[in-house]
Amino acid sequence: MNYLSLVFDDGPHNPMCEMVDKIRSFGWNAGFAVIGGNINEETLPMLKYAIDNGFQLVSHGQTHAHMEKLPSREAMKEEIYIPIKNVKEKLNYEMTMTRLPFLSENSEALLAAKELNLPVLGYGIHNASDWDSSVVPEAITEAVLGSVCDGAIGCLHVRGNTCKALDGILPELKKRDYRLVTPEELFKIKGITPPAGVPIHNVNNFGAKPKD
Ligand SMILES: [Zn+2]
Repeated sequence: MNYLSLVFDDGPHNPMCEMVDKIRSFGWNAGFAVIGGNINEETLPMLKYAIDNGFQLVSHGQTHAHMEKLPSREAMKEEIYIPIKNVKEKLNYEMTMTRLPFLSENSEALLAAKELNLPVLGYGIHNASDWDSSVVPEAITEAVLGSVCDGAIGCLHVRGNTCKALDGILPELKKRDYRLVTPEELFKIKGITPPAGVPIHNVNNFGAKPKD
């Protein structure tokens, strides 16, 4: 059995719940990297739906800031921490990891995550360019299936075309004997305690940069 964790960035917004349903229909789970500024009365139930279905939420920053443009490490810590605090207050759910906006590996930003004691989710699969709405579902499916490997933490987005691409991705992963799990579960299955402040692209080999 191979294990893979896909983490979808930039929600909450539609079609987040549909993505949850598609992944759950295989009995699997995944993660969502949440932008604090996207949380409002309309989108809060989407987060609750994800949590209730066993998905993991992580902080993707309050404003999706370019970390290196923030004035200080304290400002970076706030950017990462505000959504954690809000989700804890509103849903009594603790986000214990982060994926930095723009997959930043800025050294001050990594220190900010370290001081908040947060492991940093990397981008073991990141070549789908699914943030770009002109990329069609078939291209997303092909890119993801071409770069999956056991232990990877993948970076995709909450987008309509990504949601459609799941129809191609999920059955093929099942055929290839993969199981999708949350980052938390992936670390547990592999017997790893993730260090804080270090980008992790693949739990079998962290520290290594993903291949293009
Ligand atoms: Zn993002």
